[in-house]
Amino acid sequence: MKKTFLSSVLVAIFLLTSCGKSENSSSSKDIKNSKSVFAMDTYITVTAYGEDTDKALKAAEDKITSLEKLWSVTDENSEIYAVNHSGGQTVGVSPETADLLDFALDMHNRTNGAFDISLYPVLTAWGFTTDEYRVPSDDEITALLENTGVDKINLDSQYVTIPADMQIDLGAVGKGYAGDLVAEELKSNGVKSALIDLGGNIQTVGTKPDGEKWKVGIRNPFGEGNFATLEIGECAVVTSGGYERYFVEDGVTYWHILDPKTGKPADSGIASVSVIGSEGRTCDALSTSLFVMGLDKSAELWKNSDDFEMIIVTSDGEIYITEGIADDFELSSNFAEPKVSVIGR
Ligand code: AMP
Ligand code: MG
Repeated sequence: MKKTFLSSVLVAIFLLTSCGKSENSSSSKDIKNSKSVFAMDTYITVTAYGEDTDKALKAAEDKITSLEKLWSVTDENSEIYAVNHSGGQTVGVSPETADLLDFALDMHNRTNGAFDISLYPVLTAWGFTTDEYRVPSDDEITALLENTGVDKINLDSQYVTIPADMQIDLGAVGKGYAGDLVAEELKSNGVKSALIDLGGNIQTVGTKPDGEKWKVGIRNPFGEGNFATLEIGECAVVTSGGYERYFVEDGVTYWHILDPKTGKPADSGIASVSVIGSEGRTCDALSTSLFVMGLDKSAELWKNSDDFEMIIVTSDGEIYITEGIADDFELSSNFAEPKVSVIGR
């Protein structure tokens, strides 16, 4: 396992400056307006193109803030906090939270358990929720795993019940769904071209204002910069990687994505995985799960699906991309020639 890539905790994807056109252009389509909000543990920047986007951007900002208030694990007024402190009682939640919970339960099944929103107490034992990192003992992990398991969550329309000893966390899917809902908000406010950057995860509305595709960079998990660029239309690009949050103890690196079966950092031979698709929430849930599942199971899931494409960088530095994005994928010129394999159906 290469360790050098762990020197960086920067976000997974950077928007290249080539997105959008010069701001002194005379065309109204090219007018660019941005808003940044710190929410969901990251900076979210919404950039809209065209005239009169102030109202749309304000609506987008309000949407982000309201979703943060629903899903925060630490805000005592959030719906997730209420669920986690319900002592086993049923809690009524908003349509957005119910939708996302329902989706998260589906993704658990679709990924054969790799996606699991009930790991919060295990993540806390490792210190990933507090930054007070430590390696829990096997006995401690085994005891904590007793209280995990998505099948113990009961969702009945907008009413959710979880066992008193369980705590849930939508961190692996919330930003993706927020991207979907913010894109919807922008569209319903008349925006035809926009780019939402949720801490490196990208969601677009339409094309660039000149009708061209957007160009996004895919973060090099082994060091600084991007290893490739990808041209996209209206879609989401979401990346998960061990380098995003980790600690080192006694020479061993421990990262923030856990294998729900072991309660330990997933060690499937993947350094980073980017998922591309029309739904941000699907891409977000899948990027986390594919990281747990590893290359072969991810390829199998892709072959049986039609709603996503993926870019996987293995711990050995090999790159695998699915055929649906092969024409839009380009290695960066400054990246040493790695092996790129295209996965076909
Ligand atoms: P992401 O950055 O979207 O891949 O989400 C990673 C975050 O999701 C972690 O920091 C944890 O809070 C949480 N998490 C870790 N492992 C899992 C898992 N197997 N399923 C769902 N969420 C997880
Ligand atoms: Mg995710």
